[in-house]
Formats: sequence, structure tokens, C-alpha cells
Amino acid sequence: MNLIQESYERLFPEKEFSYNAKMEYNRRLAPFNANIALHRNVLSVNMNLQWKDIDEEIKIGLIQHLLLKIFRKKGMTQNIELYNNFTKNIHILTPKDKIDPQLEISFDRVNKLFLESSLEKPNLCWGTDSRRKLAHYNFHNDTITVSTIFKEAAPHVLDYVMYHEMLHKHFKFEHNNGRSSYHSPAFKAAERQYPEYQEIEKEITGLIRGMKKKPASLWRFFR
Ligand SMILES: [Zn+2]
Repeated sequence: MNLIQESYERLFPEKEFSYNAKMEYNRRLAPFNANIALHRNVLSVNMNLQWKDIDEEIKIGLIQHLLLKIFRKKGMTQNIELYNNFTKNIHILTPKDKIDPQLEISFDRVNKLFLESSLEKPNLCWGTDSRRKLAHYNFHNDTITVSTIFKEAAPHVLDYVMYHEMLHKHFKFEHNNGRSSYHSPAFKAAERQYPEYQEIEKEITGLIRGMKKKPASLWRFFR
């Protein structure tokens, strides 16, 4: 029996598996990423090559997690629990080789001030000059990415953005009923520990608005 069928039958014991299952490992996906697709009768799962050597019970949890998503069902199994625990520890397996010096200074400062220097350093990268996605933490590759619009910002503004993403790593994600909640009440309470955070949020809004107002003709000069 293949792994997809095994996962399906353990997850939905009352149902019959009537698909043509296809499992593939490839290098195109981001680290520890995976996806699932259903076309007619073909149920295919793609996993990043890194999954190949991972324990089958964990992989079954991953596939079950994907099956719940594609069939829009909720559920919890021992395998999904194993998988959830595994994803929380993926950062240990990730090399830390992309650490930007400016972001590292901010990270160290925030870590010392708010987290007793307890947070293990992730990769720290600049992203694009996005105004919609200011920053994010990706637990698959243990990386905090910050929009380049903060490159020239005051240190306390960058620190606040950094703090938010560091809290994502700190809290990881909490699972309830198979759904992840990223900004839990505990998360928000911790975020509000940041001094004058409301003022800083206004500054960030101002920073974004200021950029938008810049007329197109001006941009040409500065290119
Ligand atoms: Zn967030």
C-alpha cells in the first residue's frame, strides 16, 4: 500500500480509497514544503526532497494534514500531532547562513530587551520594498524577512517590526482543531509590552503613506 492511501485510510476509516495516488519528491518546492492536488481521479502529493529521509509516521501526518485541507475537513490524528511537533522543530534542521548585519543588530537588541536573549537566531533577510507585506516569519526555513522600506527607518521602528516577527518564532503557531492561530491573545498581549507601540504603529502608517504620496515624476529622478 502506498503512503497516500495509508494516510487516507487511517484518517477516514469509514471511506473507501478510490483514487489513483501519485507521490513525488522534488527540489522545486521551498524547504520542507509540500502540496496536494486532485485532478479527476488522480490524487497527487509533492514533497520537497528533504522529506525523503523523514520518518514515515511523520510523513503520514503531513499527508493527512494536506488531505484535510483539500477535502475541507477538520480532524486530528496521532500522526498529525507528530507532524505538528516536527514542524515546530524544523528550524533546528535549517542552516543559518543568511543573516543581514543591520537586521542582526536589531534582532540582538530586541532579544536582549524583551526576551532575555532567549530566542535562537533565525536567518534575517531583507525582502522587497513591499508596503503590503511589511515583514514575515517563515518557519519552513526559519527566516525573518523584512521589507526594505524599513532600511532607512528609525531603529525603534525597525525593532518593533522585528519584535512582531520574533514573537511569531517565539510562540510558533498554536493549533486548535487543526487550524493555526497566528495572533493569539497571548501573542497580542506580548506585542503590547513594546513601549509606545501605538505611536510606532502610527509612524509606520505615516511611512507607508509618505511613500505612496511621492509623485511619479519624482521617482524618475531618484531611480
Ligand atoms: Zn503577524
